[in-house]
Amino acid sequence: MYNGQELGATYKKEYTSFRVWSPTAQRLKVVIYKEYFDCSGIEYEMNHCEDGIWELKLAGDYKNKYYNYKVTMDGKENETIDPYAKGASLNGNRGLIVDFASIDPSGWESHEAPAPLKPTEAIIYEMHIRDFSVDVNSGMVHRGKYLAFTEAGTKTQEGLSTGIDHLKELDITHVHLLPIFDFSSVDERLDKGYNWGYDPYLYFVPEGSYATNPYDGTARIVELKKMIMKLHENNLRVIMDVVFNHTADIENSPFHILAPGYYYRRYPDGTYSNGSGCGNEIATEKSMVRRFIVDCVKFWATEYRIDGFRFDLMALIDTETMAEVQTQLRAINPAILIYGEPWTGGNSALDYHEQFKKGNQRGMGIALFNDSFRNAIKGDNDGTGLGFATGATDLVHEIKKGIVGSISYSDSICGFTETPCETINYVSSHDNLTLYDKIKGSCPNASEHEIERMNRFAMAIIMTSQGIPFIHGGSEILRSKQGNSNSYNAGDEINKVHWSSKAKHIETFNYIQGLIAIRKAFKGFMLDKPEDVRNSLRFIDSPANTVAYLLNSRLKDGAEYLFIIHNSNRHDIEMCLPLPGEWHLLANGCNASPLGLLGSEACQNSQIAVTPLSTYVLIKI
Ligand code: CA
Repeated sequence: MYNGQELGATYKKEYTSFRVWSPTAQRLKVVIYKEYFDCSGIEYEMNHCEDGIWELKLAGDYKNKYYNYKVTMDGKENETIDPYAKGASLNGNRGLIVDFASIDPSGWESHEAPAPLKPTEAIIYEMHIRDFSVDVNSGMVHRGKYLAFTEAGTKTQEGLSTGIDHLKELDITHVHLLPIFDFSSVDERLDKGYNWGYDPYLYFVPEGSYATNPYDGTARIVELKKMIMKLHENNLRVIMDVVFNHTADIENSPFHILAPGYYYRRYPDGTYSNGSGCGNEIATEKSMVRRFIVDCVKFWATEYRIDGFRFDLMALIDTETMAEVQTQLRAINPAILIYGEPWTGGNSALDYHEQFKKGNQRGMGIALFNDSFRNAIKGDNDGTGLGFATGATDLVHEIKKGIVGSISYSDSICGFTETPCETINYVSSHDNLTLYDKIKGSCPNASEHEIERMNRFAMAIIMTSQGIPFIHGGSEILRSKQGNSNSYNAGDEINKVHWSSKAKHIETFNYIQGLIAIRKAFKGFMLDKPEDVRNSLRFIDSPANTVAYLLNSRLKDGAEYLFIIHNSNRHDIEMCLPLPGEWHLLANGCNASPLGLLGSEACQNSQIAVTPLSTYVLIKI
């Protein structure tokens, strides 16, 4: 274990120091290339130090020069990029020596990130860099690139806002980006390449295919920072999806070339564990791997001012590493969001008790994707099973568990969290069918109007429940991937946001916007302590296949009581209002507004009819 100084290339005007861990190397050299296109470079011998470290301090100004390592093992020399490289040339062929201060976009240092939020105040919106803007009808110039997120005033041909203006209209708080660090599946020379990016190559480098010039290693850094700054300036926080559970492959990974056998998890017989389902699995429990992961997230949180991290297949990361990640990130930014998938993609050699699964997160400040609530709302992921939002019966109890943030609410309503801050409430994400496609597949006889209604109902349950709501970007405009349930390499036509859907489904867009506004207007929806949930939320007896509850939201906002009813029946139900007084409707199955629905009379007669497959929110004046 090496606890010493920074690894990688550290730039100073007078010198650059290189430090790399390669415990079984016989010889190590740094190769410096003046330009990314140079065929050959100048080689410098590195010094072998303690703990498997090789070092070299090279006098002179090496800003924006490229470098690699040549490592000799078993008498054979191999060239590799530095796994700690902070920049890279085309397709990650060579590392870049970066002087960040000299290339920062104007205003970067002084720009203010949005104010800190409690986890339950977050509203996460998941998006892929390319999907967001590649549609011609996005009206954007830099389609498919980081810079598309910097374009204001963009509109569809129907005259509706797209891009960052669309996000501001919705008023989400966090943009969660599918992998933005360098992945290997897309040839950065081509403009047509498509992949979600769950095949990481260089963990400290932004992906090159999203830059306007993938050859010059500085472009991707500058453009990503411009994007983050623009999002921050518009009160939007940025979350990156990190894939520390596996690498694109083993043979070409700098990990393997510099320390064969070390970085990958194996069974006692030497075979590679494949809990990722992608052919390999990173051994996060090993000290230098743990250090790599912690160094990496700290780097992104400081250099790029990233506001949150989503861990792919987080159960493959040992609990000690996640605890260290949490401690170190929290020291940089106490409000940073940390969450991930509490499952693996197959059997793992990691001890079951070490896997970061549901329950292990209790009290750690890390949230988990809540698959139980997801399945209760929509049914199974890709099959035809129904959920509460599509009219299944017998799911009331599971829905109640989700509504309370999956805390221990009562003897019978008892979930996996200690606080509502530990659940990511969602119905769909980039994986599996989109919500629209899932509903369409499960309800083949439903009309388009009915599908749209169920889409709104599913999202209304998420937006009114305790916990952290998460929206698969585009769900608010009925995003479809034409029934493709695993579109990771299916190209733009399937994956892109079709911006013409916004005009087609503007009522649903307005509805989701209204739900977000309602959630933000009442603190009672964002409780972060389990005792507050137990004290403020009371379930009310209601007809079969419905859930009704009273939310006492006196906490800070002046409103006294909210009454929420979810009707999963295919017929109207009548509900008695739970307290005497004047009640106003804030949301029904079609409209939602924190100011109350225009034209809706105050509910004076102590009864309200709730339409099929819809959520009603009422407030007592
Ligand atoms: Ca790449």
